[in-house]
Amino acid sequence: MSSVAWLSKKLDDGRIMCEACNQHCKLNDGEYGICGVRKVENGELQLLTYGIAAAVNVDPVEKKPMFHFLPDSKVLSFGTVGCNFSCKFCQNADISQYPQEHHHEIIGRSLSPQAVVELALEYKCKSIAYTYNEPAIFFEYAYDTAKLAHEAGLKNIYVTNGYETHKAIDTIAPYLDAMNIDIKGFSKEFYEDICGGALKPVLDTIEYARKKGIWIETTTLLIPGYNDSDEEIRAIATFQATLDSSMPWHISAFHPMYKMLDVPKTPAKTLRRAYEIGKKAGLKYVYVGNIDDGLRESTYCPNCNKIVIERHGNIGQYITNHLLEMDSCPFCATKIDGVWS
Ligand code: SF4
Repeated sequence: MSSVAWLSKKLDDGRIMCEACNQHCKLNDGEYGICGVRKVENGELQLLTYGIAAAVNVDPVEKKPMFHFLPDSKVLSFGTVGCNFSCKFCQNADISQYPQEHHHEIIGRSLSPQAVVELALEYKCKSIAYTYNEPAIFFEYAYDTAKLAHEAGLKNIYVTNGYETHKAIDTIAPYLDAMNIDIKGFSKEFYEDICGGALKPVLDTIEYARKKGIWIETTTLLIPGYNDSDEEIRAIATFQATLDSSMPWHISAFHPMYKMLDVPKTPAKTLRRAYEIGKKAGLKYVYVGNIDDGLRESTYCPNCNKIVIERHGNIGQYITNHLLEMDSCPFCATKIDGVWS
């Protein structure tokens, strides 16, 4: 199935510019974008993955990870093939890099926007996550689904590398409730050499989406020897604390994957070090992930420092929620930042 990728415009030289992400591909007839799933055919940009889901699951929302958004609820997660990045450490390379590595073949099951919403309702999910690969590249599929989801009383979450254009964010913002945005590192070199992107547009997206009123949490996968120095971790934490100290930051453990099979997994002590740096930088909510560490997966009241949501398990999936009236500390009544209902 394909559909017109309407987030695009015709240039004076006859090429079509895709406006979905900050790669800004300018394409002639027959050419594919970097993501491998948007292609110009007969003078129109097509989204080749419209209505074709490569992965669909029901997850705890904590797995996204989202810790301040409808805690202890289920989310219908889905994604397609393709990606606008080419991260050497990608944890989902079997789908994200599939078209690029298989002569632009598109795989997946037929699943219309309406069918995604029906599945979410059937499995009693409170939200839909656009995840596994980069949702920016299947914008029109995500947009149609998100709109129907809102009509059905469901919320929408993007799990993203933050490469959306402002136009894409402006267009989907009325239906987008939350985003988990990766800050994959804090150097130009890391983004260019390891990810195939650039850092600045990502930081810009975090700021822009936050101003739009979308609830934002961020994630950094710490890779030994690549982005785990004190200086780089501090730079990420300081950026975020300066922008908004109440934006939760997830620090995750890397496991050898894809083109980084020779890199060891992240030691627990690195996650603990990053956690302390995040707290020292002034972030109110810092979490470790891909490791069972209840102390550092739980939410603490930023005023009295008592635990208000207890979590443990590799993804913080075992939860005891102590929040009073859904959003306040039970000990000192301080409001805890997040989307709780
Ligand atoms: S979504 Fe794909 S085609 Fe569009 S700009 Fe990004 S990489 Fe290029």
